[in-house]
Amino acid sequence: MTDCPPDPPAPTGAALPEDEKERIRLLHASLEIPAAWIAARGLPRMPLAARLETCGEDAAGRPVRLLPEAATAWRALLAAARAEGLDLVVVSSFRDLDRQAALVRRRLERGERLEDALRVVAPPGYSEHHTGRALDLAEAAHPVLEETFEASAAGAWLRAHAGRFGFRLSYPRGNPWGFIHEPWHWAWAPVPSPAGTAAAPHRR
Ligand SMILES: [Zn+2]
Repeated sequence: MTDCPPDPPAPTGAALPEDEKERIRLLHASLEIPAAWIAARGLPRMPLAARLETCGEDAAGRPVRLLPEAATAWRALLAAARAEGLDLVVVSSFRDLDRQAALVRRRLERGERLEDALRVVAPPGYSEHHTGRALDLAEAAHPVLEETFEASAAGAWLRAHAGRFGFRLSYPRGNPWGFIHEPWHWAWAPVPSPAGTAAAPHRR
């Protein structure tokens, strides 16, 4: 596995919010995603990260891109996990709107029903991966996203320790947004400072 040195921030190519809204509308139209579904599930909009930092490579050799603050927390988490002999790999980090749409489209082309696909992959504009805070994690020896990750040594370690680094499991069993249980999907969120000035929550 490659090291994870701090890199200079990379430009995101993020669109302005109005452009972002229009791009999402077009992508939803092309995928035939009814607006009513989004509303019915209460999915929160996930803004595109304004800044991204590259932090090593994922399991497929693509750059891991995260919000700089999340990248710092990820490096600390990874070092702690390695110190305990766990070899975590990133399967997915930041995704832009087009990449998210491509993931949905790929499932549809395989014959999945749209409604089923959107329980596994969020509609463009509604994926936590857009924010640069989310990581899909796996064990290096078995870099796939399966529910069995929960029972793995890495899954147990993350449940016990990820919170210390500001990461939490976004989609537990029975989550209110109708996503499947994703024991591999962890997101960094600012923790309240000692003065109690918590940063704004990003989910809602
Ligand atoms: Zn994920």
